[in-house]
Order: sequence, then structure tokens, then C-alpha cells
Amino acid sequence: METKIVELIASPREPHFVGDGFRVHNFIPSGYRMDMRRMNPFIMLDYNSKFVFPATNTPKGVGVHPHRGFETVTIAYKGRVQHHDSSGGGGIIGEGDVQWMTAASGVLHKEYHEREWSKTGGEFQMVQLWVNLPKKDKMSTPKYQAIKYDEIPRVKLEDGESHVEVIAGEYEGVKGAAFTFTPVHMLNARLKNKGKASFNFPAHYNTVILVVEGSVFVNGTEVVPTDHMVLMANEGEVFEVEASEDSLVLILSGEPIDEPIASHGPFVMNTQEELVEAFNDFNHGKFGTLAD
Ligand code: MN
Repeated sequence: METKIVELIASPREPHFVGDGFRVHNFIPSGYRMDMRRMNPFIMLDYNSKFVFPATNTPKGVGVHPHRGFETVTIAYKGRVQHHDSSGGGGIIGEGDVQWMTAASGVLHKEYHEREWSKTGGEFQMVQLWVNLPKKDKMSTPKYQAIKYDEIPRVKLEDGESHVEVIAGEYEGVKGAAFTFTPVHMLNARLKNKGKASFNFPAHYNTVILVVEGSVFVNGTEVVPTDHMVLMANEGEVFEVEASEDSLVLILSGEPIDEPIASHGPFVMNTQEELVEAFNDFNHGKFGTLAD
């Protein structure tokens, strides 16, 4: 086994708003070399770093919009969001929960801060990720996985206090809570100061580390502060993350889907023709209906 080295440490870009409810730093696909092809199957990652939303009686969020050809995954760290989609999927997620929506052949959905949470407001922090689907599954039936924090398997680390939560894939032989179409590892490592976790993924898997809380050393040398993302090289397999204070890091590693990507807005397909078809189907109401 060879050491997987750090390719790049990306600082958070200037934030922008998605709707009025998500204040995000985009890490994938724009810039930093982390485009859709390089990062596949992780084709979009927006990170709402910790941000305080004031109390309101009108929940903030994103109105009805379509998706086709991939999955949208929301990992909640602070705050609560409510989701509805045209295939009947929906739910509320809060701290530590994950919602995994397979848009596949197409859904309309909307995402808002939970009404009750909005009334008090407070710290809000989430990751929104798009996971690509292979050609054979892009037009499959939409589905929805609600994954509650206490259903996520965890692996205790050597210090006895730190642990790794297995949202998807596997860690130390423990399988994750989510079903995935292609091999994807999605882990939250909650590390006490000086807590260490080592990871082992195939060299060609695309791998990133997002520091959600605290700061960490990667492979003992590279210091990574809060809200920064580390892109790991496609060489070597093994790397180590050590907390330099109490920390929480998200680790993503996935097998690249070796197929062409054609993307426009909320649609990610394999060809230009399929994008045109997606727009036509959307305009003809084939994504179902969902009230505002
Ligand atoms: Mn969406």
C-alpha cells in the first residue's frame, strides 16, 4: 500500500445564496481543478458553512425546481430542513441526518428551512452534494432515502472517544446506511483533539476531505483549517487524518463513472441529445407536479 498524497487544499470561495435559504461556498465543479470529470461521481458540492439565520415566520429555502440524471444528498450539521418532491418523497432532517434523493428519470423538488426551526432561527450548516448516476440508471425510477443520525453505523477509533460514521460505503468492514448505485464511501469522522483515523481507498477513486469543524493534519504534515477542502491525488491508497483540536471532517471517495458527461443546470446526462430531451420532458410536464 502506498500513501495517498494531498493534491490540493482549497479554501472556501466567496459565498453565494441558493434561493434565500442556503449560503454556500461552491467547491465542485467550478475551479480548483475539481470539475465534474475529475471529481466524478461527485459532480457538485455546495457547502453552507456555519451561518446564523435570524428568526422568521416565512421559512427560507429554494422553490420548486427539476433534476434528472443523478442523486442529491444533503448532510445536515446544524439547523433543520424540510424537503418535498413530486415522486412523493419528503421529510425533515436535522443535525446529523442525511437525505438522499435519487432524482434519476426526473423529479421536481423544493427545500426549505423547517417552519418550527425558522421561528427561532440559529446556526445553519449543511453540505449539498450531487452524486452522478451511470447511464444504465439515469432513467430509473426516482426514490428517496431518509437517513436518521441514530441509524448511521459508527466505528470507534483507537482513542476510544473518536469515531467514524458510515453514511455510505464501508469503513473497517462496517457497511453504511445508504444504498448507492456505484461504489461511494461517505464518512463523517468525529475526532477528539489528537484523535486519528486512517483511510484506505483504491488509488483511482476520487477522494476529498472537507473540514466541517476544527482543524486536522493530513498525513501528519498538511494542516487543514475549518471550511477547507482537501483533494487527494489519484495515486496511492492510504492516508491519515489527525485532529489538532476537536474536529469533524467529511470524507468522500467514489469510483469514477467512466462515461461522457453532458450537463446543463439541473440536468446531468451523457449526451447533448439527452439534455434536449430532459428540457422537453420538463417543459411538457413529464416530471410530475409539485405545489409551491
Ligand atoms: Mn435541488
